Amino acid sequence: MADKRDYYETLGVSRSASDADIKKAYRKLAKKYHPDMNPGDETAEHKFKEATEAYEILSDSSKRSQYDQFGHSAFSNGGGGAGGFDFSDVGDIFGDIFGDFFGGGGSRRRNANAPTKGASLKTSVTLSFKEAVFGVEKEIEVVVSEVCEDCSGSGAKKGTKPETCPHCNGSGQVRYNQQTMFGNVTSVKTCNACGGTGKIIKDKCSSCRGTGYVRKKKKIAVDIPAGIDNGQSIRLNGKGEPGTNGGPRGDLLVTVYVKAHEFFERQGVDIYYTLPISFAQATLGAELEVPTIDGNVKYEIKEGTQTHTRFRLKGKGVPHIRNSKIRGDQYVTVVVEVPKKLTEKQKELLKEFSATFGQNIKDGKKKKWYDKVMDAFE
Ligand SMILES: [Zn+2]
Ligand SMILES: [Zn+2]
Repeated sequence: MADKRDYYETLGVSRSASDADIKKAYRKLAKKYHPDMNPGDETAEHKFKEATEAYEILSDSSKRSQYDQFGHSAFSNGGGGAGGFDFSDVGDIFGDIFGDFFGGGGSRRRNANAPTKGASLKTSVTLSFKEAVFGVEKEIEVVVSEVCEDCSGSGAKKGTKPETCPHCNGSGQVRYNQQTMFGNVTSVKTCNACGGTGKIIKDKCSSCRGTGYVRKKKKIAVDIPAGIDNGQSIRLNGKGEPGTNGGPRGDLLVTVYVKAHEFFERQGVDIYYTLPISFAQATLGAELEVPTIDGNVKYEIKEGTQTHTRFRLKGKGVPHIRNSKIRGDQYVTVVVEVPKKLTEKQKELLKEFSATFGQNIKDGKKKKWYDKVMDAFE
């Protein structure tokens, strides 16, 4: 997969291209390289497939965002990624973009008995800040269709069988002729009599009302990789709705939401933290105990550290999602706090200290608002 061309490059669009731009670019390429227009031309066929694959990913907002985050590895097996590209979907995209225009191509169009991948399911999971940083295994519950046990998925009442649709002879499609800009083309449309299934059920199974499937709650363990961020999603291969005619199950897309932390703030792989220090610590220097997601660490600040000075704790940030051995950093901003309550003794000492600079300090009694206004006129 490493030598695969970038999908945006394949379509000749920018990474910020709109859905309409992507559709337009693909339409242009598909028209140019479609095998029906270039019979026997393997280069054209390769280009057609390449463009179609790129379009399949970039026209689907969730697949596009996965591709943007993880590149081609988002669609390779293993590591929480998704499955390889499935060309059985091509007929669908093609239908979407050209309607019945190229319908006569025939071989690429799906028929009712062809194995079809099931639909994708979407769900979400909420993680704590720390779970997202270090990764976690979560159990989620989804409601998913399972093959009906009473009819073994046929949808027909016990003792009966679905019959072949006489209207389309079981193909699920009927052919008709259409005049197009390329001449007279035989097009195909879904059979109305059987809804494209190619089968007619006279006595429906009562458990599944003839659908062949029943809805069931299922618990699924999701391995969430370290470094995942709010809004990212994980694709679980084959955990979606069942396919038809022996096709594979669809995928399950799990969107991750990460709760905010009370003290830490995350930006990408870096963590930001604000640490209050006293005037004396800032002035004289100190060894600080700094909280990190790995626990407290010691950090020494110099004499005369100014408020809002920022320092970096290398490698104390979030692991990179593609390589958890590499971690971001933690940035700590020290803020000098002014004490609000001092004892009489402390006040005395501070006045004495201040006097050494020859500074004038108020006597500690608070002036009333009226007095302050009068002062202003003096
Ligand atoms: Zn039919
Ligand atoms: Zn049933």
